[in-house]
Amino acid sequence: MQSLDVLRRSPTADYSATVIHSVSLTPTIKAIRLRLDRDDFSFLPGQSVWPKFERDGRKFSKIYSIASSPSHCPEVELCVSRVGWSSAFLQDLAIGQSLPLRGPYGLMTLSELPQRPRLYIAEGSGIAPLKSQIDWLHECGYRQPVWLVQANPETTDQLPYQQHWQRLQQSWKAFEYREAIAQCPEAIVSGLRLNLADFEIVICAVGDRSDQLQEFMLSLGARNDQLRSEKFIAF
Ligand SMILES: Cc1cc2nc3c(=O)[nH]c(=O)nc-3n(C[C@H](O)[C@H](O)[C@H](O)COP(=O)(O)OP(=O)(O)OC[C@H]3O[C@@H](n4cnc5c(N)ncnc54)[C@H](O)[C@@H]3O)c2cc1C
Repeated sequence: MQSLDVLRRSPTADYSATVIHSVSLTPTIKAIRLRLDRDDFSFLPGQSVWPKFERDGRKFSKIYSIASSPSHCPEVELCVSRVGWSSAFLQDLAIGQSLPLRGPYGLMTLSELPQRPRLYIAEGSGIAPLKSQIDWLHECGYRQPVWLVQANPETTDQLPYQQHWQRLQQSWKAFEYREAIAQCPEAIVSGLRLNLADFEIVICAVGDRSDQLQEFMLSLGARNDQLRSEKFIAF
């Protein structure tokens, strides 16, 4: 196990990953826990892996964020939304099945405990890289305010990891969770009346929604240099 507040990432390399747990979080989103075949894998919260697929004799790869804290290495959890062939393939893997993957990748990371309060905004499976960061901050006993505003356009009344966040809010004083049920996260954030210039803001959503949320936060007074976002796109 990687020690808590010392973060390191291993060089990008190839691994074999075996499914050890797979559970539905919402009607379209599943959490899939993988165990990598070597202990030397480590990553920064917010990073991703590229599972490799083979279809009709052709090899290709798609990128998925790691939803678990680095403290669980060499186990990593993916949070996958069923939208097309690759995501369905991942969701349908049985316990004990293996697939090759490469990683870690990605720059929307934490490498040390941050200095400012944090506001996280997630839509759908966009919760994945944010969960890795929030879980790690919690494990480190982080004391600055951490807000999470979560929505899920796929099934607007069911949010991935909803119970996990509800429990965390009860046990971790710094953590404030707001569910955007059947409404957009913009409405919730406006109602919080936070001084956004004080916050580091991290956004993750699918496609254009990530850009829209970013523009909205800037219009509410967020500082561009304290705003980071990731966009889930298919390529
Ligand atoms: C940095 C990064 C991290 C990512 N992490 C995750 C993750 O943690 N979990 C996850 O579910 N996906 C993630 N993705 C998206 C993932 O890589 C695939 O693109 C996605 O699973 C679609 O692949 P597919 O073969 O299933 O469907 P495709 O046939 O390739 O695409 C289907 C269509 O679905 C739409 N769509 C709806 N939801 C999504 C979505 N979540 N992502 C992409 N397209 C979508 C798009 O319009 C797309 O054209 C990430 C993408 C990036 C760039």
